[in-house]
Amino acid sequence: MKKINIIAIAAGLIILQSCATQKTPQSIITQEEVSRVIKTLSADDMLGRSALKPNEIGKAADFISSEFKKAGLKYFDGATTYRQNFTMSNIKPEGGKLTINGKEVSTEIFGVSSSKESLTMTNVPQILKIEKGDNFNAKYRQALNGDKDLLVCIDESFKSTFSRVKGFLNRGNMVASDKKESPSIVFLLTNETPVNMSLQFKNKITPMPMFNVVGVLPGKSRPNEYVVFSGHYDHLGIIKATNQDSIANGADDDASGTTAVIELAKYFAQKKDNERTLVFVAFTAEEIGGYGSQYFSKQLNPDQTVAMFNIEMIGKESKFGINNAFITGYDRSDFGKILQKNLEGTAFKFYPDPYPQQNLFFRSDNATLARLGVPAHTISSDQIDTDKLYHSVDDEFESMNISNITEIIKAIAISSTSIINGKDTPSRVSGVE
Ligand SMILES: [Zn+2]
Repeated sequence: MKKINIIAIAAGLIILQSCATQKTPQSIITQEEVSRVIKTLSADDMLGRSALKPNEIGKAADFISSEFKKAGLKYFDGATTYRQNFTMSNIKPEGGKLTINGKEVSTEIFGVSSSKESLTMTNVPQILKIEKGDNFNAKYRQALNGDKDLLVCIDESFKSTFSRVKGFLNRGNMVASDKKESPSIVFLLTNETPVNMSLQFKNKITPMPMFNVVGVLPGKSRPNEYVVFSGHYDHLGIIKATNQDSIANGADDDASGTTAVIELAKYFAQKKDNERTLVFVAFTAEEIGGYGSQYFSKQLNPDQTVAMFNIEMIGKESKFGINNAFITGYDRSDFGKILQKNLEGTAFKFYPDPYPQQNLFFRSDNATLARLGVPAHTISSDQIDTDKLYHSVDDEFESMNISNITEIIKAIAISSTSIINGKDTPSRVSGVE
């Protein structure tokens, strides 16, 4: 009798102990944690996390690094910090002097695209004509995609289109510092045929330091196969004031996705059963051109990257209500089907993107790796067609549905199981231009 009791007590203790050590999404990904992280990232003192303000966005990068450290993540591929540093060049035209057929041309009717600090042309380069009735956009793209210096002569019937092009050129351009020099293009509004020309033009080039934040959990048996979890931590910074508020907090866009990346890192770090290597990355500069994800995609082999879970704007209820989210580019691989299968029997559901006309698959950081064949998709719950808070100063912590965000993060954890343990490998994305 006594002996049986001891066995029963011992068995009970073992059950209790195994419950306490079992790492479930429920026990690790909590509303308190989600709330703390998203609140910190979207607080006013983060000043809107502009990628163009290294000191300001650096504060967010330091916070994310400290969370990665707490989680126990390793550095990425020989790095000595979680920051993945790179430099962009900010090219801003300062103007110049153009002479065509011996006459100086008004600055109103020409514009220059060049990555040179000082550009001199003494002859007419190859000419591309955009004539009356032409498809302007197609010709414009042709000019930009060429590999030679060009003079683009634009028919005067395109006067208003030309002024938009000039406005665009005047805003300047951001290019990767290690990018090889691109050809210089002169756009000129004229019906004349240039026979001789001379041009002196200057750009102001400012180096702009940028950094993603990257942490890694090496895979147990397939360390050379990567699964990426990502979100962008930059936002718009300080914008035009509304009701005396000018800080674009970006709680939903994309402190919510960054929070998911941090919580998933903590979860998988404690679970310790990933067969594949998990890479957690907070991207910079999504809002100004996706430069962070473009740099990141060159630092790892896309052929070894089996999936990317990019998480973008999961802060509010989706059009289908709570406990669901949607996956962009759903039909481009079987990634979404695998996730859905892993969620069977739960209250949560992933839908295909309900806004195909919005082109969301190409509007976030997944697109760069998707173009390289990686099943890289974005998970979101945003009602993008009616979201009044999108890119406004009111995208704040107070508008976040913390319990729903927490459920979405847990669902991502559960739905990724068979990809992380190597049982499923999503089909590759192909034919994405
Ligand atoms: Zn975003």
